[in-house]
Amino acid sequence: MKFTFDVKSPQQQYIQITAELKATGNETTVFFPAWRPGRYELGDFAKNVNHFHAYNGDGSILKHNKINKNTWVIQTDGCSTFTIKYSYYATDLNAGSTFLDTTQLYVNPVNCCVFTDESYNDPISVRLNIPESWEVAHSLKVENNSFTAKNFDELADSPFICSANLQKVTYEVAGTTFYIWFNGIIKPEWKRLIKDFKAFTETQIQKFSKFPTDEYHFMIQILPYATYHGVEHSKSTVITLGPSYAVFDELYKELLGVSSHELYHTWNVKSIRPIEMVPYDFKKENYTELGYIAEGVTTYMGDLMLYKSGVFSLEQYLFEMDNQIQRHMDNFGRFNYSVAASSFDTWLDGYVPGAPGRKVSIYTEGCLLAFIIDVYILKYTKNKKGLDDVMRNLYLNFGALNKGITEKDYQKEIEELTGVSMQWFFDDYVHGTKAYSTLLVDCLEYIGIEFHNEPVKSEVAAYLGAKTMDVNNETVIMALYPGGPLDIGGAILGDKIVGVNGVVVNNDVDRWMKFFRNDSKEIAINRKGALVNIHLPESEKTYYQRFFLKATTKPSQEQVHAFDGWRSAE
Ligand SMILES: [Zn+2]
Repeated sequence: MKFTFDVKSPQQQYIQITAELKATGNETTVFFPAWRPGRYELGDFAKNVNHFHAYNGDGSILKHNKINKNTWVIQTDGCSTFTIKYSYYATDLNAGSTFLDTTQLYVNPVNCCVFTDESYNDPISVRLNIPESWEVAHSLKVENNSFTAKNFDELADSPFICSANLQKVTYEVAGTTFYIWFNGIIKPEWKRLIKDFKAFTETQIQKFSKFPTDEYHFMIQILPYATYHGVEHSKSTVITLGPSYAVFDELYKELLGVSSHELYHTWNVKSIRPIEMVPYDFKKENYTELGYIAEGVTTYMGDLMLYKSGVFSLEQYLFEMDNQIQRHMDNFGRFNYSVAASSFDTWLDGYVPGAPGRKVSIYTEGCLLAFIIDVYILKYTKNKKGLDDVMRNLYLNFGALNKGITEKDYQKEIEELTGVSMQWFFDDYVHGTKAYSTLLVDCLEYIGIEFHNEPVKSEVAAYLGAKTMDVNNETVIMALYPGGPLDIGGAILGDKIVGVNGVVVNNDVDRWMKFFRNDSKEIAINRKGALVNIHLPESEKTYYQRFFLKATTKPSQEQVHAFDGWRSAE
């Protein structure tokens, strides 16, 4: 199998792609990937395909039928090989997309390369016809703008960036070479970067005992506008981050956070993978309930590794945990839908808020449940073992052997450490919707971390139970606290608050609501052009809260011991 990428008129943002494939009889079926690993929802990349044609060896056109949105049947009568030519429209620029303009060709092959069942496992050679001044950042070895992947899986998992604006540095840990590539407008602080990256890389490798591959590439697309995204691969990650000026300033902790998260994925999901995704089936949805392990444990560990390696202070680490707890508490979907069911449903709408109160985030719930399990293992092992041990065992017993994992495998590794059944955890919290804030508080207390809450600063959110946003001088209701005054009073999402007690509000709704806090209120609302009045009786209750963690100032001996076990860098 052979691919050629041409960039004849990059300003039109169409990549010309030629694929030479093996014919398999009278008809050969050609597929386009419907999704990409890392984003467990349909991407339907075939929507970007234009000028699709098939040819035989002497250049004559072969007939084809498109039989569904991403499948073509080519009449390959009598040919041993045939060629497909198409253009791919590449205007999305995120950590998992394919993009072309006059400055770069950035390719995630899983977006834009066809495949067949018959030649899926054949080696693939790729030729890049790109401007001479462009360099290639790639986890596969590139020579004279050509490279080889051992099969379609490896090609699909190996993104690359061709650009004249690449900068790179390398560092070594435990025999593996790590490359950090930047593309775009950026002034890297190399020394600081290498020190921090080396520290979290060392800690992660130490926890897992070895790194799965011989080299690894952080490919960081720096953009002039605000963006934050990362996608994992076996030998690389692509990260988008911006704006440029903030990357080594206020966004630096985000750069560390996403990089540590994506590196952890090298083990957890690229190697330790839900059995339903071994191998990946790019033709259709790959349903799994284990997103809380793949993304949740990675979210928990990505930040924790930064703390354990000394890159983050405890304060910085707890700040990241605060965010997860806040998201958990503010999402009332936690009463309605389990994290396992929400994982299954990422294929429906897992990456957007969706219907209010319908589902939870595999990242947030998975992270907090990972913390609870970590503490339970500590409790049962006299603070000697933790979730690190579970993940290392899963890697050595499954991932490293190319065996997929089931929930039972995860549970078994946990129970081998705790020595007691953890079925209640899976029944109540993974597959159930039992509230776990008390459990969380207990686990935090066990390691000497205090859980605090106070009414949020916004008066409308704290006392009237609605989160609002000022958009074009209008105060729009974005979320309602179930049972809060505005919810009971009949407000609906998208309502614009225009007045209170006869006064017009003008980006100062919080000030007016505070002014009238102890009075009954008549609120005027613009609801899609209709004027609606809502009466709210007096109330002293509070609704939306801010949650935050703090280290106990005077921890007990037990707490000190537990904390040391939890953060242990052994
Ligand atoms: Zn992730």
